[in-house]
Amino acid sequence: MAQNDLNKVADHFDLFHQPEYQTLFENKKQFEGRHSDEEIARVVEWTKTWEYREKNFSREALTVNPAKACQPLGAIFAAAGFEGTLPFVHGSQGCVAYFRSHLTRNYKEPFSAVSSSMTEDAAVFGGLQNMIEGLANSYALYKPKMIALCTTCMAEVIGDDLGAFITNSKQAGSVPVDFPVPFAHTPSFVGSHVTGYDNMMKGILTCLTKDKKTETKNGKWNFIPGFDAYTSNIRELKRIFNLMGVNYTVLADNSDSFDAPNEGEFVMYNGLTTLEEGADSINAEGTIALQAYSTEKTLNYINSEWGQETAVYRPVGIRGTDEFLQALSKITGQPIPRELEIERGRAIDAMNDSQSWLHGKRVAMYGDPDLVMGLISFLLEVGAEPVHIVVSNSNEKFEAEAKALLASSPYGANATIWGGKDLWHLRSLLFTEPVDLLIGNSYAKYLWRDTGVPLVRIGYPIFDRHHMHRYPIYGYQGALNLLNWIVNTILDDLDHRTDIPGKTDISFDLIR
Ligand code: SF4
Repeated sequence: MAQNDLNKVADHFDLFHQPEYQTLFENKKQFEGRHSDEEIARVVEWTKTWEYREKNFSREALTVNPAKACQPLGAIFAAAGFEGTLPFVHGSQGCVAYFRSHLTRNYKEPFSAVSSSMTEDAAVFGGLQNMIEGLANSYALYKPKMIALCTTCMAEVIGDDLGAFITNSKQAGSVPVDFPVPFAHTPSFVGSHVTGYDNMMKGILTCLTKDKKTETKNGKWNFIPGFDAYTSNIRELKRIFNLMGVNYTVLADNSDSFDAPNEGEFVMYNGLTTLEEGADSINAEGTIALQAYSTEKTLNYINSEWGQETAVYRPVGIRGTDEFLQALSKITGQPIPRELEIERGRAIDAMNDSQSWLHGKRVAMYGDPDLVMGLISFLLEVGAEPVHIVVSNSNEKFEAEAKALLASSPYGANATIWGGKDLWHLRSLLFTEPVDLLIGNSYAKYLWRDTGVPLVRIGYPIFDRHHMHRYPIYGYQGALNLLNWIVNTILDDLDHRTDIPGKTDISFDLIR
């Protein structure tokens, strides 16, 4: 077979066009009991109608392509920011394989997480023995400084108690008694990856800061990124902190875990926040989160248990970044540096340059609540009009906040927030109330294929494009990146639709 020839390695685009696969696909059809091509075409057309939309929106028991992932994925994403930390998922092996591959496919980066590999017997008798052996093996083999535990659905359904299991495992000698094993219950039949992030961050901070409160504050500010797939945002934040003289701790900095340099040697642990910094975070002046909906429980805990001031800022676009920098200026007592003022001016100049292509463009979007809030704010700034806003992991608080933001601009007047809806709902919306632009993760490719609406890939996961996470969307630099992706998608689409010389190609862009 051609794919066994090392000089002719076929990628997945070419591989499945080879005759053996084509024959296989053809043969498979006889077992599918499919309808005729005419009938399929008729139903496809019907699914684009208002009649179908009404039926689609009345479904209650079925979800099709929700724009969210499950809780443990968010939990291990949070744990990856701490130094020497091994994420350990108590539950089925297949779930953990999914989390690892999901992260690896997004970041093109190896990612380590272990599992207690529960099987049928553990599902009946409980997973304590798996935990005892799993912790002992993980500690001996991978030599972590901390093991962060979360659960899959299976462990939650049978009611395994992580706190008690950890105590029993320590008594059994799996890990030393003083070895940090923070935990979070992360049942995926409720919440999503953003809830899992929140649960795990709270769990880790609870564990690390136990008995660490001192009489005096440490003069630092804590910053919690939340489930932010753009790990370069953390680097951008640190650049801004350094420019403004902010004494900070990032809780927790996973930018290297998902974007490590290739220096010829495998490094298993790349979390940049030390356990000492995590422990001392209880003595900070205050805590600022960059997302609201992936940090709700953590901020409540910090506020009520640590007695710290907390706030949320989303430094997306001009308004969001302005508010964030003003808050930093208040914290430090320092003015906003000239360097950042110049960056602001450049971002505004760029937005003016592109404004005519963006003004009045109708936009559909989906994603996590905090990302969507940032994108709405940015779109309103450039005069685009959000129309369909789908957030599968929505809640009432988010919807109220989003509505207030939309009401603050005339460009928000035609928007509807579709909380709890999925991508199959969005497909109906796109056919019945068309838009000019779609913003979403890689799964929006199917919507783009179906509807032809140009797609800007922003969100998580992005499997079918490379390096997006290496470009921040925070700060004025981030505003430039968002603008670049959005306006150039519109121009690319225009080029593809006007490519007949002398007929449709009447642009003067390239005139001599
Ligand atoms: S939803 Fe539950 S069973 Fe499915 S991958 Fe997530 S944790 Fe595992």
